[in-house]
Amino acid sequence: MSDTKEKDILRGGQFLVKETKCEDVFTLEDLNEEQKMMRESTKEFVDRELWAHWERFEKKDYAYTEECMRKAGELGLLSVAVPEAYGGMGMGFVSTMLVCDYISGATGSFSTAFGAHTGIGTLPITLYGTEEQKQKYVPKLATGEWFGAYCLTEPGAGSDANSGKTKAVLSDDGKYYSITGQKMWISNAGFCNLFIVFARIEDDKNITGFIVENDSENGISFGEEEKKLGIHSSSTRQVFFNETKVPVENMLSERGNGFKIAMNALNVGRIKLAAACLEAQRRVIGEAIKYANERIQFKTPIINFGAIKAKIADMATNVYVDEAACYRAAKNIEDRIAIREASGNSHQEAELKGVEEYAIECSILKVAVSEHVQHTTDEGIQVFGGMGFSADTPMESAWRDARISRIYEGTNEINRMLSVGMLVKKAMKGHVDLLGPATAVGEELMGIPSFETPDFSEVLSEEKDLIVRLKKVFLMIAGSAVQKFGPDLEKHQMLLMAASDILIQTYMAESAILRTEKNAKRFGEEAQAAQIAMSKLYLYRAVDIVQQKGKEAIVSFAEGDEQRMMLMGLKRFTKYTNQPNVVKLRTQIADKVAADNGYTFD
Ligand SMILES: Cc1cc2nc3c(=O)[nH]c(=O)nc-3n(C[C@H](O)[C@H](O)[C@H](O)COP(=O)(O)OP(=O)(O)OC[C@H]3O[C@@H](n4cnc5c(N)ncnc54)[C@H](O)[C@@H]3O)c2cc1C
Repeated sequence: MSDTKEKDILRGGQFLVKETKCEDVFTLEDLNEEQKMMRESTKEFVDRELWAHWERFEKKDYAYTEECMRKAGELGLLSVAVPEAYGGMGMGFVSTMLVCDYISGATGSFSTAFGAHTGIGTLPITLYGTEEQKQKYVPKLATGEWFGAYCLTEPGAGSDANSGKTKAVLSDDGKYYSITGQKMWISNAGFCNLFIVFARIEDDKNITGFIVENDSENGISFGEEEKKLGIHSSSTRQVFFNETKVPVENMLSERGNGFKIAMNALNVGRIKLAAACLEAQRRVIGEAIKYANERIQFKTPIINFGAIKAKIADMATNVYVDEAACYRAAKNIEDRIAIREASGNSHQEAELKGVEEYAIECSILKVAVSEHVQHTTDEGIQVFGGMGFSADTPMESAWRDARISRIYEGTNEINRMLSVGMLVKKAMKGHVDLLGPATAVGEELMGIPSFETPDFSEVLSEEKDLIVRLKKVFLMIAGSAVQKFGPDLEKHQMLLMAASDILIQTYMAESAILRTEKNAKRFGEEAQAAQIAMSKLYLYRAVDIVQQKGKEAIVSFAEGDEQRMMLMGLKRFTKYTNQPNVVKLRTQIADKVAADNGYTFD
């Protein structure tokens, strides 16, 4: 149980308008002994069962994925998030993130199977199931006796998930529903025992969720395994339901509640997918730096070349920042769940609301981390040169496996739009006060700027000041855009994309700075020298993106004096007093990673 008080933790999206103190963020350095043990046993499992056999995953050995899933079940790795009452370990949200994180290192095939089972395949029952449904199904799913899959997508219903054509028709005697329809891209379809299926009853506006047992004699059949770019041993098939009989007691929640269930399961899925892109990055960096330290060209190890150092520095920086943001949000969710439980909510209700509260952060993380893993694996190939292009090295499969993360759990385009859209909605409902701070930014722009030279002598103080100003850029642009377009803002997608990039960069950069500041205070600045450099480097890159996206957004909708004033604001809010020496920062980071012969900041 958390000892954090409600007043200390921000509501979802509030990071933008309220200051977060470094003492209030949770970091990987704050793990307790139990969490560290969980991490170690997950790593051992990955080394022994997955990493040692990664070629098998490339050779489409689906049976091996299933075998490893069973072994993970035996070790308890499938039950971390499941409440004790249903045979699980009932560990906190941070622990469940740790397992998703460290299990993702060796192959995307396994982390997809793991995520589809423990996340979207099990969660809809633990979050929305009746007591009977939970008692009947969850213990089997928790141990790996049964595996789950999630059937939302259809040929005509992808991003527009509520538009599915699968039908559920109530029998004349009112005892069962008959489900007919075609689902596609279903992970774990080849070996699952149970499906969460979304179907429409009559002409309902919204779909309804059902628990459907896999039974070949009940009108269920499959397409062939999909031939995919990556995650070769993750089973992905079409699933056909032909008058499949499902008892009425297997409806999840209420009629018409399926879209809500689908979206809430995806919120959890998104932050866990982000976690599942962390260890994948660390291992790629580990392999890349070992290669760069050993590979000799022009009579010197290639790590001595600035061009290679720059890559290593950026790769390490990305995952350091991602860790900071993922665990910051994970602990916010864990604390929010604890607060809700303490105020009388059932665990089920508390978890549901706790994650929903941070849906904005979940979308931000999904986009940022999935794009970082893409970049990291791409540069991993480049460090390996021709060998990186060879299927004999793990770089090639890591690059292909990473690609799916930008597509499933809601594409990155959808999540970008959601992040800003949800924030604006929260503001309209009065949950986050955007209007007040946005008005204050407008007034600040009309006033005379201060010409005093600020004192930035304390570590990361200029960076923290810049974060405050990046938030002002978002408020300035989003505030004016909402005023100008009102509800029609959602039609201006390019503007929303630009605004979401500003939001994403701000959250990620702030998370890294707070993590480093907290650690510098307790472990000393010298011990955190590389982490300070990474935080500065990421912020520098974030400021560049904010400048570019900010300009794009402002010019798209503001004209004349308004445009001039906002562009001037953008310049003022993104200005460094002391320009960082990025070459020096990258050299410092790369030298540390090279000396450690791996990524050692987690
Ligand atoms: C390997 C794999 C495993 C999967 N596993 C599962 C699973 O287990 N269960 C399941 O239900 N589904 C699963 N999916 C499906 C996945 O969630 C969908 O592919 C994803 O949601 C995108 O839908 P789509 O493929 O139909 O693309 P579309 O929705 O057709 O999108 C195509 C492009 O258009 C963009 N786009 C769509 N709508 C908009 C909009 N309103 N505004 C702007 N841009 C838009 C998208 O961002 C994308 O770039 C899986 C997919 C893959 C490839």
